[in-house]
Amino acid sequence: MPYKPPVCPECGEPISVVDEVVSETYRFDEATGTFKLREIATTVEIECLVCKADLLELLEAFEHGVCNYVAE
Ligand SMILES: [Zn+2]
Repeated sequence: MPYKPPVCPECGEPISVVDEVVSETYRFDEATGTFKLREIATTVEIECLVCKADLLELLEAFEHGVCNYVAE
């Protein structure tokens, strides 16, 4: 395997799978009968699936989301 995943600073396990949770809020709009307004939370949760550590806090590489992770 040419590349290795980053390692969790908390439990030392390789982060081969990571959950990124972005919260989105929809509000019902009575004029149109649809959920119209959408708010995307500015906070993102990124958790280690092994020890539940907050990777957003611990791994600078995930600071702007997993999709922006760049291997050094
Ligand atoms: Zn961990």
